[in-house]
Amino acid sequence: MEMTINAAAVEQMLADSKGAGASELDAILDRAEELRGLSPLDVAALLTTDSAEHISRMFRIAGELKEKIYGERVVMFAPLYISDYCVNKCVYCGYKCDNEFTRRRLTMDEIRSEAEILERMGHKRLALEAGEDPVNCPIDYILDAIRTIYDMKAGTGEIRRVNVNIAATTEENYKKLRDIGIGTYILFQETYHEPTYTALHESGPKKDFGYHLTAFDRAMRSGIDDVGGGVLFGLHDWRFEVLGLMLHNRHLDETYGAGFHTISVPRLCHAQGMDMSRYDILSDYDFKRVVSTIRIAVPYTGMIISTRESPEMRKELIRLGISQISGGSSVEVGGYAIRESGGEQFVLADSRPAIDILRWLMDEQLVPSFCTACYRKGRTGDRFMSLAKSGNIKNVCLPNALMTLCEYMMDYGDAKFREQASAIIDKNIPKIASDKMRALTKENIDRIKNGAHDLFV
Ligand code: SAM
Repeated sequence: MEMTINAAAVEQMLADSKGAGASELDAILDRAEELRGLSPLDVAALLTTDSAEHISRMFRIAGELKEKIYGERVVMFAPLYISDYCVNKCVYCGYKCDNEFTRRRLTMDEIRSEAEILERMGHKRLALEAGEDPVNCPIDYILDAIRTIYDMKAGTGEIRRVNVNIAATTEENYKKLRDIGIGTYILFQETYHEPTYTALHESGPKKDFGYHLTAFDRAMRSGIDDVGGGVLFGLHDWRFEVLGLMLHNRHLDETYGAGFHTISVPRLCHAQGMDMSRYDILSDYDFKRVVSTIRIAVPYTGMIISTRESPEMRKELIRLGISQISGGSSVEVGGYAIRESGGEQFVLADSRPAIDILRWLMDEQLVPSFCTACYRKGRTGDRFMSLAKSGNIKNVCLPNALMTLCEYMMDYGDAKFREQASAIIDKNIPKIASDKMRALTKENIDRIKNGAHDLFV
């Protein structure tokens, strides 16, 4: 059975859960604290409560779970926009087909240049982004782009994992993406509320709510076992959307044995040709509720925010549950080369260079990680989830984070950066629980300091 969602039924669930009493909320939060995850009904009760006391407790538990499962690690990635051709008319999006601007897609040489710039920043993990246009941006072009990126090596730099965020497509195309070795297939549902979805997607293939909603069913049937969901917060009521995400996660888990590998939480921001006043953007407080509710409901699912959020907000959200952030990002086609030539066209809420973001994370005693080990070791889908749930994942994630940070500092850091990164590495090695892994990590760190690359467990 494929994913379906009934707006009236979700609204009913929220209405029925509203006003849960203190003892019920406490029992839900006790379950969360024990890392048992939460049912959609539990989630609905947390989303609809007005109890400031329970919301504060939820923030605290989210922070504790984050630390318990992810420690101080924050995985780094960069988006790469390769084509802004688009045949859809999504009211809120700058790429919509009736926006007039000169559209382009990168040539393979330009993709090589963009990948090279990202590699010279030290990135190892990309999210490839493109608008939907079967003529100007067909699947073969996307596949060529991925191949080009994997083949590009700038000195010791290389992209080791390409996650892909392209429009919902066919099983045949998903098989091609699987065969070429993508990391996670990412697709945002935008909104789970069908009437809103239908109103906001005026024309083009994306208008078909059911086809979009069942994209992960097709992807998983085609053998892609890491999929990343998301909602564009601001299009519809955030409570409805979080519950939608949880129902979707449960469907994937029950049907294919693994729920979302990651959940992204973008908040709507201004784009060309859209009127922000038409949307009810959720407050920072409610956004923190979103992140912490998801964190405690699906503790083992990675959570991603982008440079759309300010540094201050990113800091708070990392403490509440975010495990992956982008750094040094450009959201324009060809944007990295444009920036190098001094011609960037618009500014993001967090436009600091990648290395400054790393310094800032380490100032906060966080551990930036460039790890790409899991999918290269075959730890995907249910294999990843069962390792994560057993608690043993910590014995591979922290070593990999420290080894990749060490590799980064040797390749791209100046003396001051190396001093700061070395202190973070030294502080965190004792936290590796397994004696064997701790010893191996120390040995590998020494090897990396002597020039070794790409060591992982
Ligand atoms: N074309 C693909 C699709 O349709 O799913 C994905 C690429 S699109 C460039 C990536 C995402 O940008 C969209 O899924 C949407 O959530 C997000 N986006 C679009 N307009 C936005 C806006 N005004 N503010 C923030 N994010 C936006």
